[in-house]
Amino acid sequence: MSAWEKNVRRVLPYVPGEQPKEEGVIKLNTNENPYPPSPKVRAVLRDFDVSQLRRYPDPEAADLRAAVAKRNGIDPSCVFVGVGSDDVLAMAFLTFFNGGDPVLFPDITYSFYDVWAGLFSIPFETQPLREDFSVDPADYKKKNDGIVLPNPNAPTGLEAPSGLLEEIVRSNPDSVVIIDEAYVDFGAKSALPLIRAYDNLLVVQTFSKSRSLAGSRIGLAFGDPKLIACLNDCKFSFNSYTMDRLSLEIARAAIEDEAYFQETVQKIVATRERTKARLKEVGFSFPDSQGNFIFASHERLPARLLFERLKEKKIYVRYFDRPRIDGHLRITIGTDEEMESFCKAVSAILSQEGCNY
Ligand code: PMP
Repeated sequence: MSAWEKNVRRVLPYVPGEQPKEEGVIKLNTNENPYPPSPKVRAVLRDFDVSQLRRYPDPEAADLRAAVAKRNGIDPSCVFVGVGSDDVLAMAFLTFFNGGDPVLFPDITYSFYDVWAGLFSIPFETQPLREDFSVDPADYKKKNDGIVLPNPNAPTGLEAPSGLLEEIVRSNPDSVVIIDEAYVDFGAKSALPLIRAYDNLLVVQTFSKSRSLAGSRIGLAFGDPKLIACLNDCKFSFNSYTMDRLSLEIARAAIEDEAYFQETVQKIVATRERTKARLKEVGFSFPDSQGNFIFASHERLPARLLFERLKEKKIYVRYFDRPRIDGHLRITIGTDEEMESFCKAVSAILSQEGCNY
């Protein structure tokens, strides 16, 4: 061991889903959108003046924040932007979770939360979801210095019942409550309108899923101007220029194309509902996902085996080797054709393994 190693910040990093390099893969493992971004994004790329890249981007991201604010009927002072919602969430953890009591989030949830807590030495306590993966609001009424809840939750896809999140925000006026809405556009109700009533609520969204821009890294947060100002203080103490010029323009083009956004989301929702029906017919069960994925377990076949057999057929889904969820696969919703191939492959594997339906 070298002497300097004693000074290293030891962390347990987040492990992102596989990005396979081979050709001909059906990729249903990282909740990406199967459709391209808006044609308006393509036009930005085509017309982009490369000479602009010698200049730093706008550190305030004013044009993008104005466009996002306009789309949501709020003031730009309520909007924060970052390099994907991972960057926005990390900045929010750093900014708001600076107390001595634990931050609370579910035991089954986005597995980056405990990684950021580890990185920033934030005490945290996970709250077990109920057997059906629902949230018990009583778990979020204990002493805490912050709360994080995704809605819909990941990887379950379950939407919190109406009123539950507001109840939690209302019960915790002394803590910042982050609602991570990475998947909200696929059918769940956003908590965004609540930011007017609660100055302790931060709503985080992303362009990675419903706007097909995972590759450009664009995330958002909405909250009371005082919350946003605190986030900016931390951001400007870390890196003023988080978002590059091209991403700022791409994001603006995407947010202004409401029609394309609606059309794409509706296609994915329709495919999701068809896939749910198909999976039910062949022995799967799952929470009623409102995301662009289904968290499914089979009544007879172990999830790991199914995961491996699918991979042999170049179909990638996500398997989490963790207690409570190691019987499930998280299946991203692709195009109709991709889901048809997926369902056919699943049926073939089931009959190979002697499970006939
Ligand atoms: N929150 C949740 C619940 C997610 O599943 C993801 C995607 N992995 C993110 C946030 C981060 O997404 P991005 O950084 O691409 O915006």
